[in-house]
Amino acid sequence: MPIIFTHQLTMQEALFYKKTDTSTIQCQLCPHFCQLAEGQTGQCRVRKNIGNTLITTNYGKLTVMNFNPIEKKPIYHLSPGKQVLSVGLFGCNLHCKFCQNSSIAQISASEASDTKNYKPEDIIKIAKSRTANIGIAYTYNEPSIYYEFMYDTAKLATANRLSNIVVSNGYINHKPLEKLLPYIDAFNIDLKSFDDIFYKQLTSSTLAPVLNTLQQIAEANKLLEITTLIIPTKNDNQEIFTEMVAWISEKLGRNTPLHLSRYFPMYKLKINSTPLKTLSKLYQIAKKHLNYVYVGNVDDTSAQNTYCPNCSHVVIERNAYNIKITGIDSDMNCDFCGHSLTIF
Ligand code: SF4
Repeated sequence: MPIIFTHQLTMQEALFYKKTDTSTIQCQLCPHFCQLAEGQTGQCRVRKNIGNTLITTNYGKLTVMNFNPIEKKPIYHLSPGKQVLSVGLFGCNLHCKFCQNSSIAQISASEASDTKNYKPEDIIKIAKSRTANIGIAYTYNEPSIYYEFMYDTAKLATANRLSNIVVSNGYINHKPLEKLLPYIDAFNIDLKSFDDIFYKQLTSSTLAPVLNTLQQIAEANKLLEITTLIIPTKNDNQEIFTEMVAWISEKLGRNTPLHLSRYFPMYKLKINSTPLKTLSKLYQIAKKHLNYVYVGNVDDTSAQNTYCPNCSHVVIERNAYNIKITGIDSDMNCDFCGHSLTIF
C-alpha cells in the first residue's frame, strides 16, 4: 500500500518561463505554453503566476512513495528483478478521460491535502536504505510537471550512483527534456495512440510533441520503453496500430520494448475492458515489427516473458513480480544462441 503523508506547503520559482508583459507570463515547460495572468494556474493545475513569477506549487510535496519491483513501472530491460523507490506528487498536464491515477493526477495544490514535504537529499537517503534498490522512479502522476523537484533529485541521485527512471506521458518541450536527459537512465513513455484525434478528444493534448519526445530520447541513446493502454473502439484500430508499431521500429529501433496494457473502466471512461482477443491480435501485429513486445494487466503471463529475438527461447521469465533470469549470460547475450540482448 502507498505511504500517504500529512499536508505541508512548499513553493518555489519554476524553470522555463518568460515574462510577456508586466503581469502576464508564459510557461514553456510543456507544449500547452500556458499564458498566465496574475493569480492564474496552468492546465497542469500546479504552475502558477504569483507576482509575475512562475511558481511550482508542488515542489517536494509527495503524495506517495513506495519501493516497487522495477517491472511495475513497467521497465523490463533495466536491472530485471531489482527494486526502485517510486515517488509521486500531484497534478498533470494531460486530462485523460481514462486517467489511472486521477486522485493525485487530476487535482490542484488546494485539493492535495495528504502530502508531506521532502527534500531531494531525503529521497536519496531513503533510496540508499535498501541494498536491492537501484534508484528512483518519478512516476504515479506526470513527473514533467514536478520538473524542478525531479531534476534536483535526479542530479543528486546520479552523484550517489543511483539510477533514475522517468514514467511520463512525454508531453514536454525539447529544452527541458534536453536539460534532464543526462541524469536519466531509463524512460517509460506512454504512446496512447497514433491518432491525433484520440489525443485531442481523450487527453486534451496532441500527438506530435509525444513523437518528438520519443525521438529525442532515442537519439540520446537512453533506454526507452513505451506503453500503450489499449482501449476498445478508441485506439484498437489494427491499421492505425500497424502504422504506430512500424513508426516505432523505423524511428526508434526494432529493439524498443513495447508494453500493451489492458484497459479497465476508470475515471470518466466507462466502456467495457479490453477483450483478450484484441490484445492477442495487436500483440501478433507488434511482434512483426518489434523484437520485444509485452502484454500487461492480464492473467496469462506468457506475454510478459522476454524471448530472445533470434532463437525465441525465454531469457527472462516473469510471473507477476517473480522474475527468473533463465537465459542471459554475464555479457547480456542469450545463453542459448549468443544473440546480444538489449538488457542493461
Ligand atoms: S507545465 Fe503546466 S503551466 Fe506549463 S505549459 Fe504545461 S500545463 Fe501550462
